[in-house]
Amino acid sequence: MPERDVIIVGAGFTGLVAASELAKAGLDVLLLEARSRVGGKVESAILANGMRVDTGGQFFCRDMPQLMALIQTYDTTPVMAYADGETVFRPPVSPAEGLDLWHRVDALRERMLATDPRDPELAGLTVAAWVARQDVPANVAQGFLRLVKGLWCRSPDEISFTYLASNDQRITNTHSELEMFLAETMHWLAERIAADLDHRLRLNACVNHVDRSSDDITVKVDQERLSARKLILALPPTVTRRLSFSPALPAPLNRALAAWGAGDAIKVHVTYARPFWRAQALNGSVLWQEPQGLYACDASHGEHAGLVVFIGGPLAADWHGRSREELQAFILGLLADAFGPEAGHPQEIHIRDWVADPWSGGAYSDVIVDLDAADAEDLLNRGAPPVYFASSELSLSFPGYIEGAIVAGQQVAGRVLSNIKQGIATPWQG
Ligand SMILES: Cc1cc2nc3c(=O)[nH]c(=O)nc-3n(C[C@H](O)[C@H](O)[C@H](O)COP(=O)(O)OP(=O)(O)OC[C@H]3O[C@@H](n4cnc5c(N)ncnc54)[C@H](O)[C@@H]3O)c2cc1C
Repeated sequence: MPERDVIIVGAGFTGLVAASELAKAGLDVLLLEARSRVGGKVESAILANGMRVDTGGQFFCRDMPQLMALIQTYDTTPVMAYADGETVFRPPVSPAEGLDLWHRVDALRERMLATDPRDPELAGLTVAAWVARQDVPANVAQGFLRLVKGLWCRSPDEISFTYLASNDQRITNTHSELEMFLAETMHWLAERIAADLDHRLRLNACVNHVDRSSDDITVKVDQERLSARKLILALPPTVTRRLSFSPALPAPLNRALAAWGAGDAIKVHVTYARPFWRAQALNGSVLWQEPQGLYACDASHGEHAGLVVFIGGPLAADWHGRSREELQAFILGLLADAFGPEAGHPQEIHIRDWVADPWSGGAYSDVIVDLDAADAEDLLNRGAPPVYFASSELSLSFPGYIEGAIVAGQQVAGRVLSNIKQGIATPWQG
């Protein structure tokens, strides 16, 4: 007899939500997390001024219903991000010119959203190859490629176009995704969900092997073996594929896991004595055309004045491994160029380099880089019951976001519950 109903591996938002949904449904669950904390790509740090800030996932908007509901359940109040004033464009252009380019890039994005990812004409294309086929001015094409680098954190020469189109079609917000954040931090919310799980959560528990040789599942955590009727691997695909399985996973699933590549991102908090850019009628946002993959915004609240700088894609990969001092000087130079000399004198600069993170991949989400793997998401969502795969990447809405992780957790919990009720066999058993 297995020791429990379900083991869930990975206490990011996907695993936390799956575990709490299944526990609420009355199942005996155990959530195993490799790190000494929960949250995965959602984590926090305390700055020198005592402020707790999100060093991973942070922002959200009202168009993300499952996250909004969770925030309400835990009775916390979102802070609206500061949005009054102009955005700075670098190299400098007038706000009108900058907005005009932004609208043209957005129109190209709309063109991508209108494509059918199943169209055979689009099969095997990279994002860069699709853009090269579009009849748009060079600055619009460059702007679109820059957006992809910054948001999907990998070179458009590598990302599958049909993946990007299908992924973006599920990101449906009309309000800015940076509309708000939590004063207590998003990581605090993860900790609250974890606290409700109580003894059902085990930290410092790294699963490295899955034995699926019998009807039950056994996982190995160091030398300990733990068994359950069902197993949910709530891990990004590039992390899941590091586990060993006996017997090996069916070949189509191995191919589906191999289709993904991790992105590269670095998140920086720069703290100041006051939000001085506001006095210049600026909203704190900076859009850099060069270098590509850079974006800054205002993340001040209460007494805390600060900017967040995101570095994504090849630029982050380039800075990974170079010295912190060099990176600090680079960022402060860019901010001083955008906002004036005061920006060069922060109280503190905090850098979280996610590139090559061993437990979560290197950026906001993994992306599909195998141009022939159009069915990778479907295959992983079907899983090999009693082994199920889940992560924000596989979500039906907002993949790659915290909202996506919550939806992915709900999706997989629903699948496990219905399979338990119906006693469904694996699709690989003929
Ligand atoms: C810098 C950064 C900024 C971001 N900003 C935003 C934002 O502002 N808004 C937004 O909506 N999203 C943002 N995201 C994306 C968002 O945080 C993620 O999409 C989401 O949190 C992913 O959740 P997940 O549970 O699917 O995966 P993860 O959070 O990666 O969770 C996987 C968990 O599995 C654990 N694990 C891995 N291997 C093992 C193992 N072998 N055994 C046991 N446990 C294991 C990991 O430690 C981790 O806790 C950001 C991400 C990053 C990195």
